[in-house]
Amino acid sequence: MVRSNVILLHIIDWGIGIMAFPVKKKQNFWLKSAICALGVAGTLGFGGGAAQAAKMPLVVAAENTWGDIAAQIAAPDMRVVAILSSPTVDPHEYQATPTDARMIAAAELVVANGAGYDTWADKLVAASGLLPARYVKADSWSPWQEGGNPHLWFNVDAVSAFVKHFAEACAHIDPEHADGYAGRAEKMQLAIQSIQAHAGLLKAHVAGMHVAATEPLFTPLADLLGLQMDEQAYQLAVMNDVEPAPSTVATFESDLKEHRLKMLVYNQQVEEPSVRHLLELAQQSNVPTLPLSEMLPPRKHWQVWVHDILTQVGQLLGVQQ
Ligand SMILES: [Zn+2]
Repeated sequence: MVRSNVILLHIIDWGIGIMAFPVKKKQNFWLKSAICALGVAGTLGFGGGAAQAAKMPLVVAAENTWGDIAAQIAAPDMRVVAILSSPTVDPHEYQATPTDARMIAAAELVVANGAGYDTWADKLVAASGLLPARYVKADSWSPWQEGGNPHLWFNVDAVSAFVKHFAEACAHIDPEHADGYAGRAEKMQLAIQSIQAHAGLLKAHVAGMHVAATEPLFTPLADLLGLQMDEQAYQLAVMNDVEPAPSTVATFESDLKEHRLKMLVYNQQVEEPSVRHLLELAQQSNVPTLPLSEMLPPRKHWQVWVHDILTQVGQLLGVQQ
């Protein structure tokens, strides 16, 4: 990591895992080569250093998934930081800290998933007095409804709508750089189209296959691929921290044992004995398993992450790519 990043992290008194997104020199390269896995976010400096960064409008993202997407549009004209980025924290259970409150109070723009996923951010934004137009929530333009799937960063339509509206919000508070925000948003839309194209190729081979997951994290991508997502009652229970019904667990177990499922996706951030048991059962039954995280892995852009997941899904489902 470049020294200026480290200094900034100490200035804002942030813990491990906070990512600043000073994407600058290699940005065009990055956005054109969405499949390339370089660690730009964590490795480039701020150019002018921490002093210059301190003068930029601050964007605070509740999660690093949305933070990365926001940073690819806002940087280098704004500084973007994310509150949640640790793969060891379950975002569904997150409790905001006083540091988070101070950070949001200092922000010009706040970005969050919404959809009931990060209500702690709603509370901090309300307390900060931030204008509603400066709180950009990804659920605002998606068809999400109460009880629906909150993992909107895996829903490419929701991401596309977010990109459009976030770029407009940036231009509104910083009209001088409006062209930059619009141009970078356009490149993000191309990256999203590239993901749709990748998914389309895969879909031709995997549509209709029965898969399952231990939590509904993967569901938006499963839908994009036309996969048949089974064991949904179990997933909902785990996400909401409720004990699944014995009959629900029994069905899941027999579907694994009898190979009715072609793949099992599990959430790396949830450590439940019952989930562990299903994973063991999948391994014994030769059902391939795919680990997935709620957080963007370090040194990866969102679009690279999603391409990587699609590639892995293809491999696990036996598709030649
Ligand atoms: Zn989740």
